[in-house]
Amino acid sequence: MPFLCPSCNKPSLEIVRSIELPPDDEWDEITVQTLVCSGAACGFSGIGIYEESRRGALDSECVRHTGYATLSGDAAKVAALIRRKDKVGLARSIQKTFPLEYCA
Ligand SMILES: [Zn+2]
Repeated sequence: MPFLCPSCNKPSLEIVRSIELPPDDEWDEITVQTLVCSGAACGFSGIGIYEESRRGALDSECVRHTGYATLSGDAAKVAALIRRKDKVGLARSIQKTFPLEYCA
């Protein structure tokens, strides 16, 4: 399912690679994703963070899915940071955040 690209505004932003990180104090599921726009002549890349909490009432769950544009625009560099679980490096690579919007 593609997402809306924050650069060209077309529904061509796709998840290329993802890795699940250990749960933290707030979220039961944390997945880091590399995002690349498949649109011609766009070349946008960034990372996405998908977080899901299943605490609270039995039938409640909370989901947060945020996109981060990266300074380098280099998805391979970000993917390497994800493989090393280098959260500090990931934070330094982040330029701005944007909401990830699903596109039907
Ligand atoms: Zn794009």
